[in-house]
Amino acid sequence: MLKTHTIALAPNNVQATQFAQHCGYARVAYNHGLADFKTGLDEGVWHSHIDLCRRFNAIKHDTYDWCGDMSQNASKNAIYTNLNDAVKRWRSGQNRFPKFKKRAHSKSYQADSGRGTISVVGKRIKLPKIGWVRMFENLRYLGTICKVVISKHGHRWFASILVDTFVDDPISDPRGKPIVGVDVGIKHLAVTSERQYFENPKALRRHERKLKRLQRQFSRKVKGSRNWYKLKDKIAKLHYRITCIRKDAHHKATTAIVKGASRIGIESLNVAGMIKNHRLAKALADASLSTFLEMLKYKAEQMDVKIIEADRFYPSSKTCSACSVVDSDLSLSDRTYHCRACGHTQDRDLNAAINLRTVAEGHSETENACGDSVRPQQLGRESSNQADSTVIDEQLLLFSLS
Ligand SMILES: [Zn+2]
Repeated sequence: MLKTHTIALAPNNVQATQFAQHCGYARVAYNHGLADFKTGLDEGVWHSHIDLCRRFNAIKHDTYDWCGDMSQNASKNAIYTNLNDAVKRWRSGQNRFPKFKKRAHSKSYQADSGRGTISVVGKRIKLPKIGWVRMFENLRYLGTICKVVISKHGHRWFASILVDTFVDDPISDPRGKPIVGVDVGIKHLAVTSERQYFENPKALRRHERKLKRLQRQFSRKVKGSRNWYKLKDKIAKLHYRITCIRKDAHHKATTAIVKGASRIGIESLNVAGMIKNHRLAKALADASLSTFLEMLKYKAEQMDVKIIEADRFYPSSKTCSACSVVDSDLSLSDRTYHCRACGHTQDRDLNAAINLRTVAEGHSETENACGDSVRPQQLGRESSNQADSTVIDEQLLLFSLS
């Protein structure tokens, strides 16, 4: 099983400079390869990634005479892996045509030259041309190191180490654990049908004033001056801190949910649609709910817990969890769900979570003989426009309340 562990590094000043130089070299190689590829296309010649690598190697010592001090893995991986992937994604229609990399955004390079070429001993990693670099932690997994990417976030350097583990984690025993429905939102990051409430850290909101102040000061500085760079670093550091707070909350919540469930029911979010609403966009981006659900999915997969995603238009917060009547006139100003058909009263998010649990419960009975899933019968389907606008209304309400 392939697993990634990202570890913060503690390079000395020389090593930190070397990291930055390697990132620059990777960018130069990528851009050179891309330019070469484009010229080839104009002339009607298709250069494969192998050709591009060979052509770059032929000229690199003349054109970029400083490259001898660098590990050649940086340029090779930039063309062979990154550029090749970008071209592949373009050909398959998944992405647009690759763009040239800008200096400001090129803060990573891949350091290995294949499986088992990088060694880690204790809290140290040996990188080509750079040597032993101290790490903040031990590598969490045992196995062969397949890939090492060095990158910078905020003020700190990291090594993302991909390991092919030969020791499998003990898979959690699902017996005795409940099926859990998870409702995500802005007010609470997640509410489970087991009545667990996970708070949203609102990381950006907490630091918004500070960030704005720094950005204002930054705008007044002379570009390229000492103070301009100082503030630039400060802003990057604050952004990094915001990401850390958010990530931490996500990791804690997803691990707790996955560990306590035998199967999980979630909703499918139309975040792209919701983010078009400008009043909501910031709060939604701050909560980054889709990242949360992605994290929940991969952790569930690692622990062998099945995830059932409800139909995109399933009205999880408008259905009564007691009698499954859909109340489309549900008053949006109410944090509590009150069913007019049976009188059932419950917290709005909890009611939604219980409905998602029902979806996950119903799933086993709706698998056909081949094991393919059939959409559960009880999932009432509203018209798409109506459902979309309901989602937005609901989220708007939560936003204004929070
Ligand atoms: Zn009811």
